[in-house]
Amino acid sequence: MAAVCTRSFLGRVLPPLPAAMLRRYSLDVSAPLLRTQAYVGGRWVSAASVFPVLDPATGQELARVSDCGPAEAKQAVEAAHRAGRSWSRDTAKERSVLLRRWFDLMIQHKDDLARLITFECGKPLRESLGEVLYSASFLEWFSEEARRTYGDIVPSPAKDRKIFLLKQPVGVASIITPWNFPSAMITRKVGAALAAGCTVVVKPAEDTPLSALALAELAQQAGIPPGVFNVVPCSREKTPSVGQVLCCDPLVAKISFTGSTATGKVLLKLAADTVKRVSMELGGHAPFIVFDSADVDRAVAGAMASKFRNSGQTCVCSNRFLVQSGVYDRFMEKLGGAMDAELRIGHGSEPQTTQGPLINSRAADKVVHQISDAVSRGATVLKGGRRLEGSYMEPTLLADVTTDMLCTREESFGPLLPVIRFNTEEEALAIANSSNVGLAGYVFTQDVSQIWRVTEALEVGIVGVNEGLLSTAEATFGGVKQSGLGREGSKYGIEEYQEVKYMCLGGLQV
Ligand code: NAP
Repeated sequence: MAAVCTRSFLGRVLPPLPAAMLRRYSLDVSAPLLRTQAYVGGRWVSAASVFPVLDPATGQELARVSDCGPAEAKQAVEAAHRAGRSWSRDTAKERSVLLRRWFDLMIQHKDDLARLITFECGKPLRESLGEVLYSASFLEWFSEEARRTYGDIVPSPAKDRKIFLLKQPVGVASIITPWNFPSAMITRKVGAALAAGCTVVVKPAEDTPLSALALAELAQQAGIPPGVFNVVPCSREKTPSVGQVLCCDPLVAKISFTGSTATGKVLLKLAADTVKRVSMELGGHAPFIVFDSADVDRAVAGAMASKFRNSGQTCVCSNRFLVQSGVYDRFMEKLGGAMDAELRIGHGSEPQTTQGPLINSRAADKVVHQISDAVSRGATVLKGGRRLEGSYMEPTLLADVTTDMLCTREESFGPLLPVIRFNTEEEALAIANSSNVGLAGYVFTQDVSQIWRVTEALEVGIVGVNEGLLSTAEATFGGVKQSGLGREGSKYGIEEYQEVKYMCLGGLQV
């Protein structure tokens, strides 16, 4: 099935998008990967109603997807619980082989998977392909980690006893994911969960269920047993009732959520009643600090990469730019030049596009509100500043920014780059740490002592030193403060899905 879009946005720098919509955009993804039913217990299941999935660039309907409710969520939890009995007892090597096969299929179908991401979330195709490879890397990584989940044999204080610490899967995990990485936020959790021997029920965001369902199709093709991986898409209207089942059902042992801090708090409260294990990957408000000793060209490249990826809609996007007085003018001039030279607005499927639309008009409204608030408090717009047709935003550079402005106090989730000038390291750290969230932070300096001082002092879970893009399956991902609980990826990610059981073997005659 190929959905057809009827509007066109020609890639161009900053000015408003052309009113005339000349081209048609076609999703054009091979049939088996464009799934629209829920995937429960290894079967494709229709719900009583459907909800539309839209291309955020054009508003065009891409597909109608089964709108699951609490009944389907409950069936999925029960299917996962049944499947867990044998999946948890399969050998680590058996689970590893299936995860690897799933990874291979993702790579084989990477172009179709990338098109799905671009059409349902608006991200440029090059970035979507990057997401598919990043997403698949978690299946590969955890297929390898599956075989290395060692327990411990601990020296005992008593001669007649041996102490064993066993790693065991927690059980059924509910996986609730956002729209901004419709594939990777699923595999980063599910790879670890399945490797540990857990089974899962995934609830993708309303905006982006197609990538999740395509993953289910490939899981089926890979031979992941029925019930081990379930997907229950639903509309925003049904989300609270589906969330209630996924967070409160006694058969669910673990909730792993990625999304906003506000929603994370709701789910934490729901989890409390039955005392479930939780992982929370929540919002960020990353500081990006450029010191006088920085390589300014490198800092500009880092700023472009960390700010404008996915049009500013990533949780690790730099949100507050702090630039020391000695390099401020040079940094601003070069950054403005890079924005003019590199940023092209347009439909994500156009090869020249670097800036797709924001996910919806609410997201664009939020950025517009932050810009007008900043201007009303004395900020200067150096680039962009306007909302364009649909949910497109001009990439915007603000100077003369102060810490009382909204854009420095809350996540923008859009292509807004506000710059604060500072004089001392203490001043920069005080501003950087003044947030109640702490996911990522970026530091640009050539001074080794400063690198250590600032890295240790920053209240975040991830620090990029002279780097704007950091995420990789081999390293931890996660935040401090209200950015969440737990870590994904790396050798630690699998522990989020394991219990440690202490076995005391007594009465030994040794
Ligand atoms: P969101 O509104 O919190 O939604 C995330 C997911 O939670 C969606 O699937 C949503 O479903 C679901 N949800 C909302 N209310 C729920 C409820 N009562 N019960 C169960 N599920 C519920 O976040 P978003 O706007 O999609 O994503 C952007 C946010 O995610 C940003 O703050 C960003 O920083 C954060 N994020 C964090 C990370 C990280 O790793 N730390 C990564 C990516 C994004 P619906 O779609 O149906 O509303």
